[in-house]
Amino acid sequence: MAKLSIRDLELQGKRVFLRVDFNVPIEGGQVVEAWRVEAALPTIRYALDRGARVVLASHLGRPKGKRDPKYSLQPVARKLAELLGRDVPLAPDCIGAEVIALVNRLAEGQVLLLENLRFHPGEERNDPEFARQLALLADLYVNDAFGAAHRAHASIEGITRFVRIAAAGFLMERELEYLGRLLTEPERPFVVILGGAKVSDKILVIENLLARADAVLIGGAMAYTFLRARGEEVGASRVESDQLELARKLMTEAETRSVAFHLPVDHVVLERVDGEAQVRVVRTEEFPDEAVGMDIGPETTQLFAARIARARTVFWNGPLGVFEQPPFDRGTVAIARALAECSGVTVVGGGDSLAAVRQAGVAGQITHLSTGGGATLEFLAGIELPGVRALTEKG
Ligand code: AMP
Repeated sequence: MAKLSIRDLELQGKRVFLRVDFNVPIEGGQVVEAWRVEAALPTIRYALDRGARVVLASHLGRPKGKRDPKYSLQPVARKLAELLGRDVPLAPDCIGAEVIALVNRLAEGQVLLLENLRFHPGEERNDPEFARQLALLADLYVNDAFGAAHRAHASIEGITRFVRIAAAGFLMERELEYLGRLLTEPERPFVVILGGAKVSDKILVIENLLARADAVLIGGAMAYTFLRARGEEVGASRVESDQLELARKLMTEAETRSVAFHLPVDHVVLERVDGEAQVRVVRTEEFPDEAVGMDIGPETTQLFAARIARARTVFWNGPLGVFEQPPFDRGTVAIARALAECSGVTVVGGGDSLAAVRQAGVAGQITHLSTGGGATLEFLAGIELPGVRALTEKG
């Protein structure tokens, strides 16, 4: 069922409570990575241009329900003011009489940023009284915080019980459209690439996507658990021994469904030779006893890239190696480039994969950069997100 969108609302003169995800890294009082703020700009600008009185709300970090200046949204207010080219005042809090007065004084086309929602324990607890107090600031509620939609928190879920209309912002809408299409009608072949640290974090996603994909390509530390489950030697690589049974089950399922399930055929490994750390490329069959797998090898990279080139739809989550540590970023960066060259629909999710896409300088050539980490994975696992369920249905 389609959800109501901000496009469907009459905004002029209305107090629009806009839940955004401004949970950005801050160092020395400065926003060091602003893409989350930038991702919300289309919705903010749209509302301001249509004469809304815009009230922005976000969480930042984990202040554990207490006011903590370290987690103030002040640096974000400054960054947003710079991006919008207009004043963005920061309210002293997110609820209470003083905040209500500030909101009521907003003129059409003006914006106010509320202070960190998580300064109140009621936010994460989804306390109805806290949610009701937030709702006092809203004629209309719009959620553009896809990255937080998997949390049943007061500003995401509870508040929607106290407002008449809860609509999706443009970012939320775009996420639902692209991620939704991966689950319902992906153009084929549909190739899924998964990497990262643990199988255990991604079981539900693998299961759900196995039922839809034509090929699943596995890299990262996760690949060693699958290789071990297939009976291969993987030296001293990171293996989740309690997930071997499950890994076997997933591979059997892939076979039953005729989904191509590709594990790395070669590896960049780190080993100690005479006390010296050495990096070399080995094939799976010749994995040295003491070596640690750090990245997919060049042959695997080529095989994966060839699969990606032929795909009409690609979803990628998780680095294929320890990409924070060059030269073990090569596989991940090469995969980012392969996605950029693919002419099909390409969707990338997860902080590390997004970072790799930016590092490779190809962000503009990816169809959709999904801003949710946990939210993206839960959505693709087929779990209904509380923040999405709470939105008003169209029609
Ligand atoms: P995740 O959050 O599950 O997507 O995992 C991301 C982390 O997986 C990154 O910090 C990578 O360094 C790590 N990773 C990827 N490949 C490997 C590997 N072969 N060995 C150890 N860690 C890895």
